Order: sequence, then C-alpha cells, then structure tokens
Amino acid sequence: MAKSSTPEEESTTEDNIVAAMDKVAETLEPTIPANTGADEGATATKQVLIRATEEDRDRWKQAAEVKGVSLSEFVRTLCNAAAAELLECSHPKEMRKAYPWSERCMACGHRFI
Ligand SMILES: [Zn+2]
Repeated sequence: MAKSSTPEEESTTEDNIVAAMDKVAETLEPTIPANTGADEGATATKQVLIRATEEDRDRWKQAAEVKGVSLSEFVRTLCNAAAAELLECSHPKEMRKAYPWSERCMACGHRFI
C-alpha cells in the first residue's frame, strides 16, 4: 500500500521547500527588481539602442536600483518626462490666447487644436 502523507507531513514538506527557496534566494543576485512596472513595461515592445559610457550606464543602473525599477523603466520614465516638457505645454491656461481656429500658448507657442 502506498504511503499517503498526512496534512501535517505535507505542511512540513512545504516549509522545507520554502526554507530551501529562501536559502537559494539569499545567494541570488536580484536581476529583476520587485517593482518592474509590469503594466507599463508590457506595452513597451520597441527596443531603443543607445550608446553610453560604461560609467553612465553603471550610474543609471545604480540609480534605477535605488528607485527599485528596471533600467528600462528608469530611462523610459525620464525620457517621457523630458519629451512631455518639450512637446506639450505645461503653462497655465491663463497664458493661452484663443483664436476662432485654435488656441495658442503665449509662453511657449504651443498650438492647441
Ligand atoms: Zn506653453
């Protein structure tokens, strides 16, 4: 007759596995940060190859780790912020001048349709 394990034995086995996994995890260097921003990253399918000095790359990587994000997400977030600043108007609505055909920001010249 095959030996069936009692719930207590199963629990002990599970604990042992968890303990073993923890032990393994301690020795592993985390390559994927806990906060990967998976939602945003999932739609980020295009690769952008950029050249950087080794010092810059190491520094960016280090900064991303401090922030708890991947290097990709770190760069993506900063680039998005810079692009928004350059491509979109961040001035208050009071600085806009309305024309019958469009609206224009008097500070940066951005045209709203
Ligand atoms: Zn503006």
